[in-house]
Amino acid sequence: MREQKAGTNKEAAGTHSRLSGICPVAASCGGCDLQGIRYEEQLRQKDRKLKKLLSGLADEIHPILGMKDPLHYRCKVNAAFGLDRKGNPVMGRYEKDSHFIVKTPSCMIEDETADEIASVIFSLLRSFHIRVYDEDSGHGLLRHVQIRRGFATGQYMVTLVCASPVFPSKQNFVRALRERFPQVSTIILNVNDRRTSMVLGERNITLYGKGFIEDSLCGCTFRLSPGSFYQVNPLQTQKLYETALRYAGLSGKEQVLDAYCGTGTIGIIAARRAGEVTGVELNGDAVRDAIWNARRNEVRNIRFVKMDATDYMEMLSTKAASGRRGAPDRLQKKDAEKMFHPDVLILDPPRSGTTPRFIDTAARLAPDRIVYVSCNPETLTRDLKRFRARGYRVKEVQGVDLFPFTEHVETVCLLTHK
Ligand code: SAH
Repeated sequence: MREQKAGTNKEAAGTHSRLSGICPVAASCGGCDLQGIRYEEQLRQKDRKLKKLLSGLADEIHPILGMKDPLHYRCKVNAAFGLDRKGNPVMGRYEKDSHFIVKTPSCMIEDETADEIASVIFSLLRSFHIRVYDEDSGHGLLRHVQIRRGFATGQYMVTLVCASPVFPSKQNFVRALRERFPQVSTIILNVNDRRTSMVLGERNITLYGKGFIEDSLCGCTFRLSPGSFYQVNPLQTQKLYETALRYAGLSGKEQVLDAYCGTGTIGIIAARRAGEVTGVELNGDAVRDAIWNARRNEVRNIRFVKMDATDYMEMLSTKAASGRRGAPDRLQKKDAEKMFHPDVLILDPPRSGTTPRFIDTAARLAPDRIVYVSCNPETLTRDLKRFRARGYRVKEVQGVDLFPFTEHVETVCLLTHK
């Protein structure tokens, strides 16, 4: 795969000088903050942001890795359905910071086929007598349509988020949709009957197919089900994970801890080059998918723990301390067998970053390398400062542009002992 660096590639600059301010609903839709700014300038802005926050803290900050073609990269699309002010059904995206639906039949950053599928669903509603949900009265059926694409496999999953499990003529509806889009390999009815701004409810009923799709990343195959976390820009995610693995510097023997592991993606890819991997994750559905993903890839040297990442670190640290004191009798045998001391720690926490206790315990466990993957430069900076105060040095920082036309910056950092 070719990598693109900010301000260094004339082809990128030439292609994207034209890409500015071409979305007609940019001002009202909440999706893109950087509309109207040329792509190469967006990358420069993100580079400046990382430099401002991290200069003096990191030895080396590499230019952000941008996309060759930064349009239509989002492989997950959420279309909202509702009524406009005159009571007519509308489909679109929520206006910034509100629940007013802006009509957006297509979008510059979303997968084009996914947008077409959403539009066709909207056009089918009348003939199937399906009413859209009205947030104010609580009447009506269809609230959202979520469409996910397995980027490498070309499979599409359509999730119809409805206020009730009763969907009129569902088999005919499935047939009509599949006739237009044979690449839709599964269709799910998700029941969300609560007055909530959360898109998905808890119950899924599979109307067609297996109830999930698959995608491939870095040579491994991963399952995407309606609620599971998966990065929305797989091309750039591959660059992110490749950088994370290069920083991990695995030789085949290491014990690796993948903290905040989600559906196990990074850990499973790392397991092929490591001795043993443990993934820690709080969300039970994600852990279930992670176990499935490990089996699907025939990766046997990985296990997953459903637990708060900080609590898990403290448990490891306690075990390590009692092990060092030479008191095996104080350890359960099965715990002693599972004695795990990470040589490499990979962490990919949510936007709020990790906790001071996690960092302090990580420093006590003293892994040789720490690879920090972050989706929020501000909390990353805060956490890196604490790691530095606990004896780690930030050697390299690599930004990866996972979200062109938005302000989000994804970063991966390598930390080693001072
Ligand atoms: N590394 C994964 C997921 C990163 S998203 C990937 O690349 O796909 C961050 C993950 O942290 C989410 O799956 C979320 O459920 C999990 N998480 C949030 N708080 C947590 C906590 N306190 N302990 C463990 N996991 C947590």
